[in-house]
Amino acid sequence: MMPLIFAATSDIAGKVRGKAFPADDIEKRLTRGVGWTPTNVQINCFDGIAESPFGALGDLLLIPDARTEVKADFGETIEHFMLGDIVTLEGEPWDFCTRSLLKSALERLERVAGVRLLAAFEHEFQIKGETELVGEGYGRNGFEARRALCETLMGQISAAGLKPDSIMKEYGQNQYEVVIGPEEGVKAADAAVIVRELTRSTARHLGEAATYTPIRDPASVGNGVHIHMSFLDKDGQPVTYDAEGPCGMSSLTSAFAAGVLKYLDSILALTAPSVISYLRLTPHRWSAAYNNLGFRDREASLRVCPVTAKDPDSVARQFNIEYRAADAAASPHLALAAVVHAGVQGIEEGLTAPAPTEEDLSLLSPKALEERGFVRLPETLRSALEHLDGNATVSGWFPDKFVPLYKAHKTSEIGHVADLDVQAQCTAYEQTY
Ligand code: GLU
Ligand code: MG
Repeated sequence: MMPLIFAATSDIAGKVRGKAFPADDIEKRLTRGVGWTPTNVQINCFDGIAESPFGALGDLLLIPDARTEVKADFGETIEHFMLGDIVTLEGEPWDFCTRSLLKSALERLERVAGVRLLAAFEHEFQIKGETELVGEGYGRNGFEARRALCETLMGQISAAGLKPDSIMKEYGQNQYEVVIGPEEGVKAADAAVIVRELTRSTARHLGEAATYTPIRDPASVGNGVHIHMSFLDKDGQPVTYDAEGPCGMSSLTSAFAAGVLKYLDSILALTAPSVISYLRLTPHRWSAAYNNLGFRDREASLRVCPVTAKDPDSVARQFNIEYRAADAAASPHLALAAVVHAGVQGIEEGLTAPAPTEEDLSLLSPKALEERGFVRLPETLRSALEHLDGNATVSGWFPDKFVPLYKAHKTSEIGHVADLDVQAQCTAYEQTY
């Protein structure tokens, strides 16, 4: 047996793809990478290949980043992998590398606002197969039924150098939620990929299968990805909170939040990018259906989270806002890049966050919603893609050819499930995520 390291990218299909090389070659591979093919970016989550501007042409390199190394010891197997960046043969970041797109969004945040981002991804997933567990939302027995999975997963997360926070039996059938502590910048998205991969691996080694599909059962709740965000200034001081600000938001946080809400309908195709994502983004599933800000409200797209700390410094560090309109069909890097760009846009435009809602927006008439500046978020992937493509500001955050390529990619994915009924669409997605 020859130990191998898998060099991986989290691509625009939200899949983790790459190539393995002998572990002994690591020094060489950290600079020279592994060869990569441009058209790979158009492989959709169902193995179809969308229209590609590259065809059979071109060469790229996928360069693993040693800081993302995971060596998950499962006894009989060690799963050794690293995430990396896709670069051209000249060494420039490739326009469709999600990790590079996130780096450029974070650079913009630093340039415009002088701050760095801390982010923590909260993930929901489900164990596949039939279940005998009934009535176990948040239940101890539901947790005990998979204590081994939870303990193994949290152990692997810690061994990967990340910060396990909590894990529980969520409300949905066979649904669990895993939370990790915040990481700075690109590492936050790397951590999200690692958590998803370790969940799948842990389940597999225990003879089960985990799915991060956005929704398994149209009659129940979905699997959300909630992104908690806060900001540090150049001295590492927290600048998210202001005791005098609305709901505790500093003016920076308020402008960032306002930007996210203003551009939400146009970034949704990047954060909730599957056909069935739009079954989840409907009222009364505690996900997100309108472009509203909530104060401790779990049915808002953007939520000001509660703080449990008491002393002023800890309050300022713990205070964060949470983006809830994301799911795990999205690459964490691409989703975070979109949210950060929208927030920075809000800062550049000098926006102020609207007052938080404290009611059920689904009860308001279309006229009342419009008068108060709320929009129902796009209700299909196709509509979300039109919003993305139609918003020149949002397209302008990305390299020139990015939005057309992304649209072609997602259009091929839509075609794959177009003739299926809703339950069959869910089943198809469950197989791939
Ligand atoms: N399952 C809900 C979602 O799809 C989230 C429930 C919660 O943790 O508040 O986002
Ligand atoms: Mg949850």
